[in-house]
Amino acid sequence: MIERLDAFMARANAAYYATRDPFADFTTAPEISQVFGELLGLWAAVMWQSMGAPDPLILAEAGPGRGTLMADALRAIRRTMPAFAAALRLHLVETSPRLRAVQADRLPGAIWHDRIDDLPAGPLVLLANEFLDALPIRQHVRRDNGWTERHVADGAFLEQPADAPSRAAGRPIAEGEVIETCPAATELVANLGARLAAQGGAALFLDYGPARSAPGDSLQALAAGRPCDPLVPPGTADLTAHVDFQALAEAAGPAAVHGPRAQGLFLAELGLFQRTGRLAETLPPARAAALIASAQRLAEPDRMGRLFKAIALCHPDLPTPPGFAA
Ligand code: SAH
Repeated sequence: MIERLDAFMARANAAYYATRDPFADFTTAPEISQVFGELLGLWAAVMWQSMGAPDPLILAEAGPGRGTLMADALRAIRRTMPAFAAALRLHLVETSPRLRAVQADRLPGAIWHDRIDDLPAGPLVLLANEFLDALPIRQHVRRDNGWTERHVADGAFLEQPADAPSRAAGRPIAEGEVIETCPAATELVANLGARLAAQGGAALFLDYGPARSAPGDSLQALAAGRPCDPLVPPGTADLTAHVDFQALAEAAGPAAVHGPRAQGLFLAELGLFQRTGRLAETLPPARAAALIASAQRLAEPDRMGRLFKAIALCHPDLPTPPGFAA
């Protein structure tokens, strides 16, 4: 069988998320500190207020994993803004039946969908952490005599002649260089941008990748916590690629785009260290020290603070969202 890379990656990740506990292989921001989800809950609450406090409001998360982010967000929302807690309707976008069951335990009352496009109409606040990096990518390779596109056959890459990739236009690309595109992500953002501009709301994506499009092969795979060959049999490794934030921003259409902004700066502006400090005061010393260390891991530039970035899409009439001011 010869499969285009994006078809292989879609199949590999569907099998992986359906059968494995992904969190045995990698740790994500909400699993590192409860403050991450709490701050995103407060971000959603501020957006709801600046939208004029619509009731009902669709609060959605894409790719909720273990449900930790949303559980932390809802706890913070209930404590600080009960009116928002009463107005929100919780919707989750998740394809893995296994993870849906885990999420159901932690997030009673949620409604599930397979795709963001399936969310019901109306004012929306959408959150997503490390969702876009799991979406399938295409890879074009510049060759002396034209372009090829990477396919997968029997566990090995196979290049087949192809048209130039949509995003390489007009730029000189050296022989052997790889151009990645993620049609699933750009289509999703285009639909979401149109929807937010028409029906109101905001979406916040946190993920890792460069702020500006650049050539390069960023496909990576993790199995049992270690990097491995991405072409191992589908279901045995988690496949991800860098998110091209410039491509997303250009796809957003009529929605206003804020960022991308480095995660460390974004979280610091939302009060990561103040909230962490207050919480640490209530904990025994060893747990307090661990909580402070986890905040540093999320924010320090040489750890998760710079490669990870936040980008927001908003209805054009909304003010600049928290975290994107400076
Ligand atoms: N946001 C969580 C989990 C990240 S892992 C966290 O930060 O911990 C990626 C999540 O996206 C998983 O829940 C996975 O099942 C889901 N997912 C991956 N591809 C998807 C797709 N195409 N559609 C819907 N959900 C998807």
